[in-house]
Amino acid sequence: MKPLLITDSIYLLHDIKEHPESKERLLAIEKELLPIKDSFLFQKPRPASKEDIFLVHTPKYYHYVQQVCDENGYFTPDTACMEHTFLAAKYAAGAGLCAIDAIKEKKALNAFCIIRPPGHHATKEQAMGFCYFNNIAIAARYAQEKGFKKVFIIDFDVHHGNGTQDIFYYDDSVFYFSTHEAFIFPGTGDPNERGIGKGEGFTFNYPLMPNSTDNELLEAYYEKLPPLIKNFNPDIILVSAGYDLHESDPLGSLDITYEGIQKMVKQIIALKEDKPIVFFLEGGYEPKALAKNVKNTLLALI
Ligand SMILES: [Zn+2]
Repeated sequence: MKPLLITDSIYLLHDIKEHPESKERLLAIEKELLPIKDSFLFQKPRPASKEDIFLVHTPKYYHYVQQVCDENGYFTPDTACMEHTFLAAKYAAGAGLCAIDAIKEKKALNAFCIIRPPGHHATKEQAMGFCYFNNIAIAARYAQEKGFKKVFIIDFDVHHGNGTQDIFYYDDSVFYFSTHEAFIFPGTGDPNERGIGKGEGFTFNYPLMPNSTDNELLEAYYEKLPPLIKNFNPDIILVSAGYDLHESDPLGSLDITYEGIQKMVKQIIALKEDKPIVFFLEGGYEPKALAKNVKNTLLALI
């Protein structure tokens, strides 16, 4: 079965001038994938409905995002919006839902949502870190509604996915596993953040020191991740695929190579065994490197 690719030119409409989270990121990916496009099933996303977004965010927050976007305003100094941001964000959240539906209908087993704006920093009621709606969290709740009761989230973006962690911190039905660089935005992701209440033990953080190399990253994926997935026994795996862990990235300072990322991705795919997996594009701010890393991930999925 061919992997499913979900993307749309609607994501180019969200366009904040002089911003690292630029439309050039998706244009570079599109160009890089052209020679291998026959290896995939393509689908356009639907926009997430209000009800889908309310699976994670509050109605009050939803209307607040809409209002700030209408006014071309700011949520935080680095997270601005413009007239099309709200629409693009709804389609970014909708891509994962289409992937879940396709998997449920047995049209695909693996999917990659090439989307923007990203989502993993958005909490229930706060846009930040270039994120407005938490795409992967909404997809996790939607997957649970469709019968994938236990969801394992892997987040390899260089930044800790504080929003995703926060949303599931008290929850034992969604496991959150993150590798990220220590001491950078958003400042969370310490190993002693492990969940609270019945969620205790269902969050696993593995911060890496600045300038960490492939070996240090891969230790998390070869040594720590396998028993966590085995014990949790998920019905589906969702991945926050942020490629800003690559050595070329202007927003991170890890020394991870293309080969290191490829080994990590292959290990994730090996560990999922026969379970479905959906990748969600998060960060990655050097467009050429981002495009090559996305292509490598897709080649590993074929
Ligand atoms: Zn990032």
